[in-house]
Amino acid sequence: MVDYIADYYKNIENFPVLSQVQPGYLLSSLPQTAPARPEPFEVILGDVSKYIFPGMTHWLHPKFFAFFPATISSAAFVGDMLCNAFNSVGFNWLASPASTELEMVVMDWLASMLKLPTSFMFSGTGGGVIHGTTSEAILCTLVAARNRAMAATNVDNPVSKLVVYASDQTHSTFAKACKMIGIPPKNIRLIPTTVDSKFALPPCHFRKCIKADVAAGLVPLYLCVTVGTTSTAAIDPLEELLDIAGDYDIWVHVDAAYAGSACICPEFRYHLNGVDRVDSLSIAPHKWLLTYLDCCCLWMKNPSLVVKALGTNPEYLKNEPSESNSVVDYKDWQIGTGRRFKSLRLWFVLRTYGITNLQNHIRSDIGMARYFESLVRSDPRFEIVAPPNFALVCFRFNPTSEFKSIKIESLNRELLDRINSTGQVYMTHTIASGVYMLRFAVGTTLTEKRHVVAAWKVIEKEAQVISTTLKLNT
Ligand SMILES: *Cc1c(COP(=O)(O)O)cnc(C)c1O
Repeated sequence: MVDYIADYYKNIENFPVLSQVQPGYLLSSLPQTAPARPEPFEVILGDVSKYIFPGMTHWLHPKFFAFFPATISSAAFVGDMLCNAFNSVGFNWLASPASTELEMVVMDWLASMLKLPTSFMFSGTGGGVIHGTTSEAILCTLVAARNRAMAATNVDNPVSKLVVYASDQTHSTFAKACKMIGIPPKNIRLIPTTVDSKFALPPCHFRKCIKADVAAGLVPLYLCVTVGTTSTAAIDPLEELLDIAGDYDIWVHVDAAYAGSACICPEFRYHLNGVDRVDSLSIAPHKWLLTYLDCCCLWMKNPSLVVKALGTNPEYLKNEPSESNSVVDYKDWQIGTGRRFKSLRLWFVLRTYGITNLQNHIRSDIGMARYFESLVRSDPRFEIVAPPNFALVCFRFNPTSEFKSIKIESLNRELLDRINSTGQVYMTHTIASGVYMLRFAVGTTLTEKRHVVAAWKVIEKEAQVISTTLKLNT
């Protein structure tokens, strides 16, 4: 298997980045039932090559520029091998003391790399936990906030009065988590962003909104501030929003799933200014810190609120350290009970690279994104349409100087289709404030500058084909 994987990485550029199969391709190829008798490893592996590979969209392909990258490393790989080898199920301290305490150690390490105040650290008064995804982090903190708010109010049917806030660029997982805890959809305020607000949450609108809600007898519950939005990597103005939120008893969470990793570099840390005043913060090292899916780090100032909301104490898990309240039982910090020894992965990454090389890794990706940006700017038929933040470039094809009255959006849709069906590059799109744009997210582990150059050549070539067709038709 190790050889097979090594060959895969060696040959990865021979595969189309985006899988070209049709829906149902695998369902119709494999038997309807599991084999009655054991099959040899070689036969199974042969079927991986034959059936699984064609249906893979290769996230680790160096010309994968879609969504946000999912970065990996050999360090994390071997850390995870060990995690699998132990297969300890560390729901409470006693079930796996090393798993619990290493998680506390790496969460504090990462907190100090991000220059978080000690109020988020075990060495201070807070603490952190590794969740699978941001969705879980948001759900758990929402539940804690809801319980706190409900204990503080004496209105009838309190959940129906709770209101939550975020921008319209906030990840859809936020609205999903709100629905899960019973916030009425009409009380989910997704405040519109604009080109002028740089696709970030405008504080003045937040102020108006929250004032009006309180005047109407509603109870502000939770503000989700995004540092690095999923569409355009926009950065909500944390400090200004906190100045407003400070007047209300509202839980403030910072979702920095993608961009949080960049804040280990001193030159990007200012994006988290104000974090000392928030209740919780989550970042997903599985996106940009070489750590494999799934690994989302959540820090809280007051973890006891989550423990109070989610804590359980069944007879079959009772033990002395837990009873004496001298340990962390992570089952009470998350949705599930069982949990993997995920901190091994982070520990191996942090130690193998060291802070300096992790910072260099981030800077190298951002450098490649700036280079791509310069290529886009050098071609007058293209334009940058969102402030380029971190390692994401949002742009579009706009040859209006050559061709009057063309439909830019449909032109760009066609361009994206053409690019992705070459199989050489995979990119995705978004629409923000009504503007359709192409997203170029740099950063898979194998990406080098030459891949960025090659991708730009594909983009320009396909754009040229469209231009030529336009010329023929005019
Ligand atoms: C990717 C992303 C998410 C979703 O993360 P999951 O871990 O898949 O739930 C949430 N917020 C932001 C800002 C993201 O970029």
